[in-house]
Amino acid sequence: APVLEVRDLTVHYPVKRGLLNRTVGHVRAVDGVGLTIAAGETLGLVGESGCGKTTLGRAVVRALAPTSGQIVYHGDKGAVDLAGLSDSALRAYRGQVRMIFQDPFSALNPRMTLLQLLAEPFRNPAVRRGHIDSETEQRVADMLVRVGLRPEYMRRYPHAFSGGQRQRVNIARALITRPRLVVADEAVSALDVSVRAQILNLLADLRDEYDFTYLFISHDLSVVEHLCDRVAVMYLGRIVETTTTDRLFDAP
Ligand code: ADP
Ligand code: ADP
Repeated sequence: APVLEVRDLTVHYPVKRGLLNRTVGHVRAVDGVGLTIAAGETLGLVGESGCGKTTLGRAVVRALAPTSGQIVYHGDKGAVDLAGLSDSALRAYRGQVRMIFQDPFSALNPRMTLLQLLAEPFRNPAVRRGHIDSETEQRVADMLVRVGLRPEYMRRYPHAFSGGQRQRVNIARALITRPRLVVADEAVSALDVSVRAQILNLLADLRDEYDFTYLFISHDLSVVEHLCDRVAVMYLGRIVETTTTDRLFDAP
């Protein structure tokens, strides 16, 4: 069964020029993409830099609204088109479909403690006013431990941590709502080689433990070969091939 269906999706970015910053055209970052993500699979999304992978991932988590096309989510209330969701339904969706953002340095607000950063995804108004209840605090502590950090780190700010530790925080922030679908965008490419294998193992272990579906964006084929069941290949905003990982790597 599918978790998510992307139908004929197009995302344009405006191109602005001149003193008046007028829009003079657009970049077609995603150009008529169709893609089905099946429940439980790890689907790799590969392709050279600039081909539209991040844009497609951000459209899937609704961090941006597409120019045209549909994204259909198969949740416990049946299939829903994201374009038709109310604000409250969209908030619920953003708890179920989460993204691990690419850059561990810019993805975390430097003015928030790890406790605030990990409590925020619950979008609880009381949390927003600064009241974090003991149950939420316990969930944050447990999640920190699960990604290999200490619970007492929750009082500290992101700058106290290394790149690998920050990526663990990023991962914890994506998983704390127990999502069904996780979009991992180049989750290890900004890290030192020595840290990469640790984080990749963590990402694989967490999938086995929490049983979510992955859309795993990477330009690194060895990562994809190791982790993914199927692979979609993107080129110039389009998906040009979808195949099993075995077939991709067995090709003569
Ligand atoms: P990838 O993740 O495969 O590297 P992106 O989705 O980041 O690709 O980018 C796809 C295309 O859209 C590229 O040509 C990129 O320069 C352009 N692009 C990405 N983000 C923006 C933006 N915010 N404004 C304008 N153009 C953008
Ligand atoms: P706003 O509409 O005020 O921009 P959003 O609800 O779109 O607020 O989200 C704010 C930011 O939170 C987004 O720009 C994105 O970076 C991040 N975000 C949104 N959805 C998710 C998600 N599912 N997983 C992780 N981060 C998200």
